[in-house]
This record gives sequence, C-alpha cells and structure tokens, in this order.
Amino acid sequence: MSNPIDAAPGSQRADYSPAVHPAWVEVDLGAIADNVRALQATVGNVQMMCVVKADAYGHGLIPVARTAVAAGADWLATAQLSEALAIRAAGIPTPLLCWLHAPGVDFAPALEADIDLGVSTEWALDAVIAAAQSLGVTANVHLKVDTGLGRNGAFSPGEGRTDFAELVDRAAVAQAAGSINVRGIFSHFAAADEPNHPSVAAQHDAFVAAVALADEAGLDIEIRHMANSAAALELPHARWDLVRVGLAMYGLSPTPDLHSSADYGVRPAMRVIARVSNVKRVPAGQGVSYGYSYTCAEDTTLLNVPLGYGDGVPRHASSKADVLVAGQRRQIAGRVCMDQIVIDAGDLEVACGDEVVLFGPGDDGEPTAQDWAAAIDTISYEIVTRFGPHVPRVYLENAISDDRSNED
Ligand SMILES: *Cc1c(COP(=O)(O)O)cnc(C)c1O
Repeated sequence: MSNPIDAAPGSQRADYSPAVHPAWVEVDLGAIADNVRALQATVGNVQMMCVVKADAYGHGLIPVARTAVAAGADWLATAQLSEALAIRAAGIPTPLLCWLHAPGVDFAPALEADIDLGVSTEWALDAVIAAAQSLGVTANVHLKVDTGLGRNGAFSPGEGRTDFAELVDRAAVAQAAGSINVRGIFSHFAAADEPNHPSVAAQHDAFVAAVALADEAGLDIEIRHMANSAAALELPHARWDLVRVGLAMYGLSPTPDLHSSADYGVRPAMRVIARVSNVKRVPAGQGVSYGYSYTCAEDTTLLNVPLGYGDGVPRHASSKADVLVAGQRRQIAGRVCMDQIVIDAGDLEVACGDEVVLFGPGDDGEPTAQDWAAAIDTISYEIVTRFGPHVPRVYLENAISDDRSNED
C-alpha cells in the first residue's frame, strides 16, 4: 500500500502524482520504525538520538522525524539549523540537537524553539550567550570536542591548555551566570567502522580526558555522547549516555566490510523506482548514450529510464551499477545522462510503463544502495542522500504503529 503524504510545510518537495512524475523514491516508514526499535534493543539502556540531517539521509525530514519519535527516539538531531527549525515548525517537540553553524547565524530562533546547540568554537559560544541574554533564557549547549577526527569540535590533543580547555572555561563562566546550561559533551569517531583502528582507542581516551576536564570545571554534564551508528553497534564501551544513530536507522550497514544490514537486524527503507519511457529494438553494434562508451554486442532491446544525474543517479554509475527490470538484474548501459539512463535489456520482455527498480531493500533481487556504493566505490550514505527533493517521495506507512506504550 502506498500513500503519498503531504510534505513538510514550506518544503519544495514534489508530491507524487503518476500523472506528472515518471520516477519516485519510495520510503518505507515502517522499516524505519522497526529499525529504530531494533537498534534501541541492541544498544540497551542508553538514549537514542536519531540523526535526520540532510533531509533524513534523503528519506524526507519530517515524515522520518515523526516516525522515529513514534518508534521511541529520545532525541532528534540535524547538522543545519534550518532543518532543526523545520522540525519544530512541523510541531515535533522532541529534544533536538543541531551542531553545524557558521558566523552570521542568529541563534535566537533556535533558543525560542528549544533547540539544543552543539558548540565547537568560541565565536559560537559567544553568539549563543548573546542570544540567550537578549531573550532572557538559558541556552542548552553540548560542547563538541575534537578527540582526533580533525573536523569540527574544539581540539583536545592531550595534556595542557587546548582549544577545548579554553572553551570549557568560558562555558563554565557563562553557566555560572545563567545564560547557558552545558547539558552535553560530545565527540565523533574517525574510524568507528574499523573497530580495531588505533584511532578508536585514542579518541576514546581523549574523550574520557575531556569529560574529566568538564567535570573539574564544575559543568555537571548530563549527556556524554560519541557514538555514531558504527560505534553504537560495534563499540559498546563508546555508547556512554546516548548514541547518535544515522545510517543504521535507514536500514543500511555502517560497516559493510564487516556486517550486512541483516546482521544488525535492520532493513533498507528506500527504494528508487522509474517507469520505462521508451522501448526499442536495435541492431548489434549500436552505440548507446553520450560518447558511445557502450556498444550493443548483439541485437537487443534498449530501455529508456527517466532518472539521471540531475535526480541523484551518480554519473559514475555509467556502465557499472545494476537495476532490476522484469525480475532480472541489468547494468546501466553507457553514460548516465542528466535526466535518464539506458538499460540493455537483451531479449527480456519489457513494455513502456513497466517499473524499473534502481535499488531497494534487495528482497525482490534488486540491488541495494550498498551494492550501488560498492559498484562505484563510494558509501551507501552518498547513494541515498543524492536523490534530490524534486524527485517525489512516496511513503509506505502500513507498518507504523505508535507502540511506545509497549516498551519499558
Ligand atoms: C552524521 C553524524 C552522525 C550519524 O552518523 P551515522 O554514521 O550515519 O550513524 C552522528 N554524529 C555526528 C556528529 C554526525 O555528523
């Protein structure tokens, strides 16, 4: 059963209509709900923060946020403030953290919307304090410590005065003055998908030291968190008080070299589908698509599939990734174009209007997002996030129920 549902207020998302759209992204919200519950069962008695940044990894911010909350998410998180504000505008009151900012940001709307702010830098701390003072409120802040990723977070390489120590001191002053409450301290792994990578233990040690520093400064931190999906699943000691789960809640494995989705008890929620728009017989030797990088070896049937790199099909998938057509896997023939791809269907019986599945959960033999990632040497994160908001989402809601009352 598929049920097109309304997009978030103000979003540019196209509502699916077969009268208009030749292709769409189907999102199984029931799978997401089941995944959230399965992951909570795996991580045990720690809080679950469901990461819905980047339009919920391409699955649709608001429908996914609602689903995650109904399935028991304690927290939601985004990178961008715009997405955090959209969650509040949709009437979702769940605790919410947002961590990626640049100078010029106005934190006042975030504080008015009761959004917790990740703070990595002194400029951001000053801006949060200023916004809190102007509103006369106390801002909830999670200090981000760079324990070795070398990305955002205040750097804390070891002993002595560090960027993070400076940030902690300033935060302690502001907390004493009542303008902020340092509710959390957090960090992020560089290689949690390789549990034996030496950086994992080093980062964990650095985080222990950073927590101790915050304690010594009297910050009385309520929530310490450093685990993404891979760490939540592979490194029980890194779960601390809360895990920040992204990829795994969408049913994809964060450690494809070690474990499959099924190993983790989750299933992919996204299926990308298009209707064949043109079917033709061509002779052996026919070149296909721009540059003729593919030539038909025999007399064959070519299918036109109306999705291209402008929609989210990576151009690197040219003559690499498979699709499912008429129950069979067939490779994309030649270059991916902006709006379309071509499939060499051989002698398969295919008609205009038949559905082609680019990738999905894999249940019917279609490739998975992980198969596409492996075919073009990237990660499944990139495959699912590429599909733009102009490709309509169709939400399957049949398996969702708000059964928090059944949980302990
Ligand atoms: C994206 C992100 C996550 C979620 O990562 P997954 O690997 O998708 O689970 C967690 N924490 C931070 C800081 C992130 O940027």
